[in-house]
Amino acid sequence: MSELIWLNGETLNMSDARIGVEDRGYQFADGVYEVIRLYNGRPFTLHEHLARLERSARGIELFVPVELKTLADEVTKFISRAGVRNGMIYMQLTRGSSPRNHIFPDASSTRPTLLFYARPLPPVPAPGAGEGVKLWPVVDERWKRCWVKSIALLANVLAKNAAVSRGYDEAVFVEDGFVSECSASNIHVVKHHTLVTAPPGPKVLGGVTRDVLLKCAADCQIKVEQRLPSEAEVLDADEVFITSTTREISFATHWGERTIGENKCGPTTLALHHLMLKRITEDAK
Ligand code: PMP
Repeated sequence: MSELIWLNGETLNMSDARIGVEDRGYQFADGVYEVIRLYNGRPFTLHEHLARLERSARGIELFVPVELKTLADEVTKFISRAGVRNGMIYMQLTRGSSPRNHIFPDASSTRPTLLFYARPLPPVPAPGAGEGVKLWPVVDERWKRCWVKSIALLANVLAKNAAVSRGYDEAVFVEDGFVSECSASNIHVVKHHTLVTAPPGPKVLGGVTRDVLLKCAADCQIKVEQRLPSEAEVLDADEVFITSTTREISFATHWGERTIGENKCGPTTLALHHLMLKRITEDAK
């Protein structure tokens, strides 16, 4: 079956989809996006992702051209047509196509480009299983609206490649001795049974997985401090882990050449991942 795409209200074969050369997403990275996980053919935390899409759009003076309720219905219909049961939806919204100009086009004459498609993904390793993540610290060179899920990801792309080319798994941004987030995930620190996790802000995207994590922490009465951890705190932590839609929870074992905690998945990380899986499994029934 050929891959399908939903583009501005129409479902078509990916190979037939056309986006204008002057689409502002292409020329200015003038757009926002979402990645939504599919478990058992169901989109997990769909409404939270669509709400963030709307927030991100508002953050760049853009609007979602479809009611969120309608968009949710379209996503649900599309998933069964696409036939992807375990994977993700990639959704992107740009300001649309108009003659190249830094100034926004007139919203009455330019239609935003909204699209999404589904991709299968391999299952996430079970809690505590698999190799730990090796983190590579980099200087944070990104803009100050990281709470916007912008498609302008070049600083993240360069950071991730700097990490992977050195044999690490994920780049982690550090600024003035404080740790904000990773190139495509949030980072969390456990010390003396307290979870330190950075809230959304200039340098941190409000992860939907992080929101689920906070619910799991409440489920098992883990104390939470919402603030940026310092680099020293990360190095001195009992446990460090990262979260994202595609990886759920991954424990971290290395910060550059230094080992984190006991170089294995710690008990708090394990408990939180089990609770997260419980929520995912209940949702996917
Ligand atoms: N921060 C950044 C920079 C990201 O790209 C992601 C992944 N989209 C996250 C955090 C985690 O967000 P979520 O849990 O919503 O996937």
